[in-house]
Amino acid sequence: MMARSRPLAVAVLTVTIAACGAEDGRHDIVIANGVVIDPESGLFARMNVGIRAGVITTISEEELEGERVIDAVGQIVSPGFVDLHEHGQTEEAYALMVRDGVTSAFELEVGTGDVAAWYADRQGGQIVNYGVSVGHIKARMDVLGDPGAGLLPVGVGGFGSATEEQVVAMEAIIRRGLDEGALAVGFGSAYTPGAEMSEIERMFALAAEYGASAHIHMRGGLAGLDSTLSAALHVGAALHIVHVNSSAGAAIEAFLAAIQAAQEADQDVTTETYPYGAGMTEIQSALFDDWEGWPDERFQNHQLVSTGERLTRETFARARREGGTVIIHGRSEEMTRAAVGSPLTMIASDGFIENGRGHPRTSGSYSKVLGRYVRDEQLLTLRDAIAKMTIMPARRLEARAPAMAKKGRIQVGADADITVFDPVTVIDHSTYMDATIPAEGILYVIVGGELVVDDGRVTDARPGRPVRAPLR
Ligand SMILES: [Zn+2]
Repeated sequence: MMARSRPLAVAVLTVTIAACGAEDGRHDIVIANGVVIDPESGLFARMNVGIRAGVITTISEEELEGERVIDAVGQIVSPGFVDLHEHGQTEEAYALMVRDGVTSAFELEVGTGDVAAWYADRQGGQIVNYGVSVGHIKARMDVLGDPGAGLLPVGVGGFGSATEEQVVAMEAIIRRGLDEGALAVGFGSAYTPGAEMSEIERMFALAAEYGASAHIHMRGGLAGLDSTLSAALHVGAALHIVHVNSSAGAAIEAFLAAIQAAQEADQDVTTETYPYGAGMTEIQSALFDDWEGWPDERFQNHQLVSTGERLTRETFARARREGGTVIIHGRSEEMTRAAVGSPLTMIASDGFIENGRGHPRTSGSYSKVLGRYVRDEQLLTLRDAIAKMTIMPARRLEARAPAMAKKGRIQVGADADITVFDPVTVIDHSTYMDATIPAEGILYVIVGGELVVDDGRVTDARPGRPVRAPLR
């Protein structure tokens, strides 16, 4: 088990030992002359990195031999980014997010109701590593008989209240998913207004029993945050508040203060943000149940993803009937900056894309933080930004999935999941009209020791493997 924060002197010692042990042979891949950043050890220096059989075997100032040597002069060599919130779990989405530097993409908020089938569907190998939670939303849709075919309830699964018998049936689904190796338990109390906090707390208790974190898209603003924190504390569940930026809105400073206070009181609670002022969700979800009472001017903040058009009362009504995905504009840049700049937040994309239509956060979250907020605006340091993208999300899952202790790090013995980017040019280009424009400046991405992005292009390699908790 690696120490939580290792002093720099120890890291340098590790490097020296590794260099001595590397004389016995060549490497599959060498990343030469880049500036290596490992947020756990504090390493931030020009080094050569050697990879063999999917593992980082050498980190050295000495020149290394390899089958393939990548000259990374002027580039940053970072652990691959670990995204805890990615709904796009398809080749189309993986191909975009990997060009944004993501090497592990996990669907932990909504999750699935059938963990074994979810992993089986992807076992042929993917571009990036993948993983899933078992979801309370899905369990509730199933037990209450919601007619929705997408990610979220469109009827009784959202607003219905559950009998004791139905809550027990949901518990059985969650328990089976955890037995099958779910990485976490997912919740969307904002999408299930019919679920009382006592029901949510019952599922939190299962997460606690299995050492899994509860990832929740919570409801109800600051008061909702309070009741969510209390319920998790009551049953000893590790809590992860997803996209604090969108759940808090204008109350972002108060949200962050409440989470920090809970941490200071030793509660296991973490959070994440994506770096955009607009959200995205399904138009038939419970978030819009009060739409008929909105003032006319509110509709234009809503952009239909399928066409890019801004909505009116009439077109909103039609889309609500027919279904689809909608982007919701409205948060200020100051709110986004408060969330991205906070030391509490991990970066997570909340990405989704289908048939070329989606939110730009799918393809630009990480490059936007690195290019705009680190380089151009100096809102946070490069070192801190990389920690938010790598070691912080890796640690969140380590108690449940010990394999995560080898990710989010550039260390000898760690998995060779590595992102190489140019700090001078890295930037996002995707937009609310076209979310398929790839990020720029992320030239090499390695997953499990294989190049999945080579000189900016996605390769044919599919080394991405399941990340899963031990089966029971
Ligand atoms: Zn989400």
